[in-house]
Amino acid sequence: MIASTSLKTEDLLQLVMDNIPAFIFWKDRNSIYLGCNMNFALSAGLNNPKEIIGKSDYDLPWSKEDSDFYRAVDKKVMDAGKSELNFEESQTAKDGSKKWLRTSKIPLYDDANNVIGILGTYEDITAKKEMELQLLKQAEDLKVSNEELKNLNFKLEELNIDLEQFAYAASHDLQEPLRMVGGFVGLVRKKYSPMLDAEGLEYVDYIGQGVNRMSDLIRNILLFSKVEKDIESLEKVDINEILHEKIKDITHVLQESNVDLEINLPDKKIKCQPIRIGILFYNLILNGIKFNRSEKPRILINFEEQETQWLFRVSDNGIGIEEEYQAEIFHPFKRLNSREYFSGSGIGLSICKRIVQLHGGKIWCESNDLGGTDFKFTIQK
Ligand code: ADP
Repeated sequence: MIASTSLKTEDLLQLVMDNIPAFIFWKDRNSIYLGCNMNFALSAGLNNPKEIIGKSDYDLPWSKEDSDFYRAVDKKVMDAGKSELNFEESQTAKDGSKKWLRTSKIPLYDDANNVIGILGTYEDITAKKEMELQLLKQAEDLKVSNEELKNLNFKLEELNIDLEQFAYAASHDLQEPLRMVGGFVGLVRKKYSPMLDAEGLEYVDYIGQGVNRMSDLIRNILLFSKVEKDIESLEKVDINEILHEKIKDITHVLQESNVDLEINLPDKKIKCQPIRIGILFYNLILNGIKFNRSEKPRILINFEEQETQWLFRVSDNGIGIEEEYQAEIFHPFKRLNSREYFSGSGIGLSICKRIVQLHGGKIWCESNDLGGTDFKFTIQK
């Protein structure tokens, strides 16, 4: 322990200054160093605080620009007789390494109230500053990536619209010549059947079937492109009502296929685009019946209310979908089964996906306990 009485005040002060984490120095009116603490001496490349006496910043191991700046601030503080507190400044060592300092400078007065120098202290904030600069850079980079992403998205949307318009125009224009081919095939069959042998008649039938399939395909592409084109506003509706309306259209299918249809939908009104939601359920129900070999096809429709969205589930006891294909079937024209056994164009589920996306939701499917498939989709509340 050090007995304070055995130390001169000056020595005690030096002892305290040398043992605190700050950097301290003081200069005369001409910015010539009069003293400093140990931390400052070491950072100035000196072994002892006494070595600083009589030196100027230009004698110390920092750049000339730094020294110019330090002296300019000294002058400002001394001329104005006013402290400059907690300002940030950099310090570049002769080897090029850079430090960041948070500095305060206060004027020193004599008994006659004349400014005779300055007292300076600083803390080394390099680590904090570097982190701050890195964060700023990351924020800047993020802004640039965000901007790029926005542009890409914009271009993608434009491309999408172009593609949809193209699909719409092309499928619309293709219908006319196809109708003509279909018409003439009908005429050939009607007028020239007696002149054709069995093989010839079979060929005519093939042409007829091809025309029908193509017209089905065109109709579906048109439907797909219209999902986006036909603007429908959001309405608060009871989904049960929409669904029961749709079911009326397929009563004969339900009866013919002996379908057991169980609907458990919310009693609440839900904000959605009713016509599109009707098409969505319609497609999923018909698929559940079509891709089904059970004696009694079952379709169960359920929902779950979640915090920000509704989760709907259309389950069937159909032929099921292997896990590796469960994502692909939502792509346009993707079909897993031969046309011989199951008709279709491969567009239905892509229409479903667009509809769900337009409601800010997601659609996917999973195998279920009934041996069939659960189609699940969400709608933002
Ligand atoms: P489409 O029914 O016209 O073939 P979709 O886009 O509706 O076209 O379906 C794509 C494919 O996904 C179907 O061809 C079928 O292979 C498969 N699929 C769709 N729904 C079901 C389902 N409920 N069960 C089994 N397979 C299905």
